[in-house]
Amino acid sequence: MKPSALRSLVATPAVIALAAAGTLAAGANTPAQAATCGGYVGLTFDDGPSGNTPALLNSLKQNGLRATTFNEGQYAAAYPAQVKAEVAAGMWVGNHSYTHPHLTQQTQATIDSEISRTQQAIAAAGGGTPKLFRPPYGETNATVKAVEAKYGLKEIIWDVDSQDWNGASTDAIVQAAARLTNGQIILMHDWPANTVAAIPRIAQGLAARTLCAGMISPQTGRAVAPG
Ligand SMILES: [Zn+2]
Repeated sequence: MKPSALRSLVATPAVIALAAAGTLAAGANTPAQAATCGGYVGLTFDDGPSGNTPALLNSLKQNGLRATTFNEGQYAAAYPAQVKAEVAAGMWVGNHSYTHPHLTQQTQATIDSEISRTQQAIAAAGGGTPKLFRPPYGETNATVKAVEAKYGLKEIIWDVDSQDWNGASTDAIVQAAARLTNGQIILMHDWPANTVAAIPRIAQGLAARTLCAGMISPQTGRAVAPG
């Protein structure tokens, strides 16, 4: 069975029972996972990698969560081992520009350089060639979109802003994640301590709502089952 076919069925009680019995392993990561995922959300962490990335990855792994890390090219170049560690921990690595400028105030040549150098830095570090791009500050325009298209990148903004970049408390970050619905994406960051502290409770909250942490589809830009 193709994963897409399974996804369309996982919410039905009969399929949950079958999956629990271990008869639907093909196409799903594990039967247990298929049984508990009534939908998918996209957890995203921007501005890494950094010295904080190991703590973030450890917490995500311990809580059974996968996420998309939107890396800056300058940090992928500085911390290539952490790009590799992200992939090894099951994360998907996206492009977040090289130096995090306000792209809408840059020339097309500068935007091109910011994006292309980051593609190269992430690939050179072992993160693969990104398919997703998040413009710094969520700021975009026709020129940014044209350069994204040139590199085959899907632009990903967010549905929920955790405000972790703005000093949000751990409680507030947990409450932001609680607003996510199927297919939606939340903005978080690699560096705030409150974000790492929120991860166990984010995992508990998603599980209680039968939502799983998914990948972001480069086709639709929505959170979907890991493919
Ligand atoms: Zn950023």
